[in-house]
Amino acid sequence: MPKRFYIETVGCQMNVLDSELIAAELLQHGYEPVDSRSRADVILFNTCSVRQHAEEKIYSALGRLKHIKRQRPGTIIGVIGCMAQKDRQRIFRRAPHVDIIVGPGRLSRLPELLLQVESGAGPLLEVSLDRTAGDRESVRASFEPYQFDRSADARPLPQQAIVRAMSGCDKFCTYCIVPSVRGPEQSRPAERIEAEVRQLAEQGCIEVTLLGQTVNSYRDTTVAGRTLRLADLLKRLHEIDGIERLRFVTNHPRHMTDELIESVGTLPKVSPYFHVPAQSGSNRVLKRMNRGYTAQQYREMLDRIRATVHDAAITSDFIVGFPGETEDDYQQTVALVQAGRFKNSFIFKYSPRPGTKAAELYEDDVPYAVKQRRNNELLAIQNAISLEDNHRWVGRRVEVLVEGSSKVARKRPFSGDTVQLVGRTVCDRIVVFDGPPELAGRIIPVKIDRAEAFTLFGRLRLCKTQEEHSC
Ligand code: SF4
Repeated sequence: MPKRFYIETVGCQMNVLDSELIAAELLQHGYEPVDSRSRADVILFNTCSVRQHAEEKIYSALGRLKHIKRQRPGTIIGVIGCMAQKDRQRIFRRAPHVDIIVGPGRLSRLPELLLQVESGAGPLLEVSLDRTAGDRESVRASFEPYQFDRSADARPLPQQAIVRAMSGCDKFCTYCIVPSVRGPEQSRPAERIEAEVRQLAEQGCIEVTLLGQTVNSYRDTTVAGRTLRLADLLKRLHEIDGIERLRFVTNHPRHMTDELIESVGTLPKVSPYFHVPAQSGSNRVLKRMNRGYTAQQYREMLDRIRATVHDAAITSDFIVGFPGETEDDYQQTVALVQAGRFKNSFIFKYSPRPGTKAAELYEDDVPYAVKQRRNNELLAIQNAISLEDNHRWVGRRVEVLVEGSSKVARKRPFSGDTVQLVGRTVCDRIVVFDGPPELAGRIIPVKIDRAEAFTLFGRLRLCKTQEEHSC
């Protein structure tokens, strides 16, 4: 009987991609996916270290697995991803029933480690070198960008795929653990990315999201005589038949070049969507965060995008309550949110992460109540802007890539020919409408009737007038 696996994924899109590739590799090794921990022979937690809360959830989930291990000692429990790289022995100490710990830079070893545990070895630990544990080349080599042949069966929607353009990060923002757990910045050769996107197109994929912690610092130096940047990569991928939408996340403000912005403005398949975290509107705080730009430079970047890309949707991230953030610093962040007119922003309350410079150097001196108030206020300001921005779409026709049934529809028993569907416009706006479930994976026109801050509501409808624009 084939072994059954279950992967629980938390955290960013990098983890979503890693889980998909692991699933594809396990499928090829004859494993079968199941949808619950209790039915699995192999239970993997793909973990995140960015927030304390996410880590605590994993420890409690691991705690709950003790009884499964007692009842079925053959069950293999693995912790993979960023927490595995950061916490290692601590995980074994807190959850001694864990069999395997594998860091994100060592995932290609996972199938072999599973075999070893099955034959009685273990517990096993496989992590990359710490960033100070060797020269740059040996540290880099210990963080292998995990790649595996893509399988449509391993993706929730075969028509949508994430593709790794680069991994790791060398920016060392003082609050962030990513450079330690994901290793040095490494770009994949454009040729390999292109081959992967061609394979995806052959599998029926129509939307590709290029992924990197700072994807716009992409640099391929493997081609003799020139360095390929993200704009060059987009131009190459744009030529691939079958691919209809190209996106890229996440961007660093410092690398938002005119050339890249122009390529978004001129290549019709590239989404006019930019996720560029600002983090703060105060130069003093940005400096303490080691972000490498000023609020003025960030605003100029927004102007350059809006002057070049029609109807650009720009989204951002902000941290409130960073150590030393005064009311005046915070008000400068408010001013940036108001001026930025972001489609939406992700707003976080600062919390120190062990292993980061900020946790080491700065006292977490903004009281929790102040962080909470700033968080709520900033959210309210952003939500009002998002609502206003979404209202512009009412009455217009948008092209929507249908992702499947909405959460509401999934809770109801299916009856009749239509369900509530959810999809996204090319500029990443969420659209909800009724339609037949077979539309999943197709790009279709929807007329927008109503808008909320995070969602547009519409009807399946073809465009009748020239005045209606599509997004
Ligand atoms: S750019 Fe800064 S916040 Fe983003 S992954 Fe790198 S260190 Fe973290």
